[in-house]
Amino acid sequence: MTTGDPILQLDNVRFRWPGRASFALTVPELSIANGETVLLLGESGSGKSTLLSLICGTILADAGHVRIAGTDVADLTGGARDRFRAEQIGVIFQQFNLLPFGTVLDNILLPLRFAPSRRERAGDGPTEARRLSTALGLPDMLGAKAASLSVGQQQRVAVARALIGRPPIILADEPTSALDAGSQSAFLDLLFDQVRSHESTLLMVSHDPRLGARFDRILRMEDIARIERQAA
Ligand code: ADP
Ligand code: MG
Repeated sequence: MTTGDPILQLDNVRFRWPGRASFALTVPELSIANGETVLLLGESGSGKSTLLSLICGTILADAGHVRIAGTDVADLTGGARDRFRAEQIGVIFQQFNLLPFGTVLDNILLPLRFAPSRRERAGDGPTEARRLSTALGLPDMLGAKAASLSVGQQQRVAVARALIGRPPIILADEPTSALDAGSQSAFLDLLFDQVRSHESTLLMVSHDPRLGARFDRILRMEDIARIERQAA
């Protein structure tokens, strides 16, 4: 990849969830530059999480191309795609998806298991996990079980897990939806500090237009995607 090439590129992507009341999403063109921070706004049910899954390669498009750093995710087979995702993308899921019985440290280190380059960049894993969790305002609790944490603490663990080993892309699925306005703003300060110091690309989806001010660019689902709903 040369400088200026988009790090993330969707080209005539179509996807339909199988089953009853199926939902079809078409994205003619979406391109995000390396280092950009983008907020994607859309109503609940407009396909934001579906789009992030297509970008992660956890679901594959029925037609069109999803390219991450120039690689078409459909060209990779299962195991290679999982490793590619772990190397390239840090994901903050809507429900955080922490391993409840794992410790904070286990959860933060998880992506490094599948991603040798990320592991190398992280250096000593536990030291890096401690640095990130401190930077994210988590008190010293690397040994605590994830299930014992408050929602705000779980969210910080999810952010540390997404950032460890500096993946080039961070995807965040409504990470502030469970927080009040004050904690939302503190959370975004921390996330942006980390994203800027790592020079990562950030794509965050939300239904909340108030978050827009700090992003380089705001996109709306209705402008970049067409959806069809079809009763079975
Ligand atoms: P948003 O994140 O914008 O709220 P989603 O992408 O979650 O929207 O959902 C868009 C549509 O896709 C909804 O109609 C939802 O029911 C459907 N959908 C989402 N996930 C699945 C799934 N795993 N299986 C079938 N349909 C799904
Ligand atoms: Mg969603």
